[in-house]
Amino acid sequence: MNFDRLKEKLEILADAAKYDVSCSSSGGSRKNKKGALGDSSASGICHTYTEDGRCVSLLKILLTNHCIYDCAYCVSRSSNDIKRAGFTVDEVVDLTINFYRRNYIEGLFLSSGIFKNADTTMERLVRVAKKLRLEENFNGYIHLKSIPGASDELMQEAALYADRFEIPTESGLKLLAPEKNRQDMLNPMKYIQNGIAQYKDEKKIFRKVPKFAPAGQSTQMIVGATNENDLQIIKVADHFYKNFNLKRVYYSGYVPVLEDKRLPSLTTAVPMLRENRLYQSDWLMRFYGFKAEEILDPNMPFLDLEVDPKLSWALRHLHQFPINLQTADYQMILRIPGIGVKTAQKIVSARRFQILTMDHLKKLGAAVNRARYFIDFNAGNAYLRYLTDKNLRKLLIGGSSSKFHNQFSQQLTLF
Ligand code: SF4
Repeated sequence: MNFDRLKEKLEILADAAKYDVSCSSSGGSRKNKKGALGDSSASGICHTYTEDGRCVSLLKILLTNHCIYDCAYCVSRSSNDIKRAGFTVDEVVDLTINFYRRNYIEGLFLSSGIFKNADTTMERLVRVAKKLRLEENFNGYIHLKSIPGASDELMQEAALYADRFEIPTESGLKLLAPEKNRQDMLNPMKYIQNGIAQYKDEKKIFRKVPKFAPAGQSTQMIVGATNENDLQIIKVADHFYKNFNLKRVYYSGYVPVLEDKRLPSLTTAVPMLRENRLYQSDWLMRFYGFKAEEILDPNMPFLDLEVDPKLSWALRHLHQFPINLQTADYQMILRIPGIGVKTAQKIVSARRFQILTMDHLKKLGAAVNRARYFIDFNAGNAYLRYLTDKNLRKLLIGGSSSKFHNQFSQQLTLF
């Protein structure tokens, strides 16, 4: 084996995979020093979370960055003048096993450019997963990209060996990837969803049923490469969660690395904060019972960058506050800014035995500096009697040291 060539391939194909945010790269690079132990290379190690919440490190690479398509936002697109490389099936298997034995990784994240056609590429990815499972007895985590347009038979086979699938979405498809077809992208998602449902049904009847994509499927949406607004983005995510049972939707702010007239200019990077707000909204939809249309609406199609989406919703719905913690239902307690899922659950159990006070709330883990404005502690809530949403926003953004806060606190002591 030519180690220099293998190392070069690893550098190229790990670098090309870093734009996929379904797990986040965190490699560091350090040269070995005299008298020191070891060195580290930034190539291809990243982290992701498994079904049971464990953080696992993965070898994240492309099988190849040769691609017949020319998606505008992608560094591997056919018209881009870059170094190209491709691993053989055996090379990926050997790298995975060797990294695993050295304890560098606990699994593999394998994506690929589409060479020749969808089936040939998918078949090659399946061969890697199959060889790892059947010949190497590899029991670590395997995350595979599903190739749009690949046949159901290949998807079926892949799901027997992979834990999770990364499904591409059609964000800005017509503009960014005109050769791709929307149905080709949705079919694998539907297929895996049906397969998982069927597996669960069969599992109820038979003791031994081969596993089928046990960690489900996820997808990544590129934000900011086309002019979709945040409302459209979170509605698509909501649709995926509801109709395809997706485990996760990842939002990847468009990184301007390519000059193309279909793309925003090279200076128009998407602010990290927008990406962050999309993740917060996603969290609200998955764990707090919010609907996409509640978080945003046609009059307000972009997320508020100044405050998080839950606080933004509360400020726009002040008439629904203050909330009485002793009597409110769980779903409404979840909507109080500063109260998370665990704290809301604790509140519901604790209130059966006592009347809750601000001190209790602190002990239960609430961020009371924020929550107190939205709660009715029996004697009413003086804040909401005298504050407008604009004043409250100022108060919360400015924090307790703001001039406005001090003035308002002084006024409150008069009541
Ligand atoms: S098909 Fe995938 S790898 Fe190929 S150009 Fe499009 S996004 Fe990039």
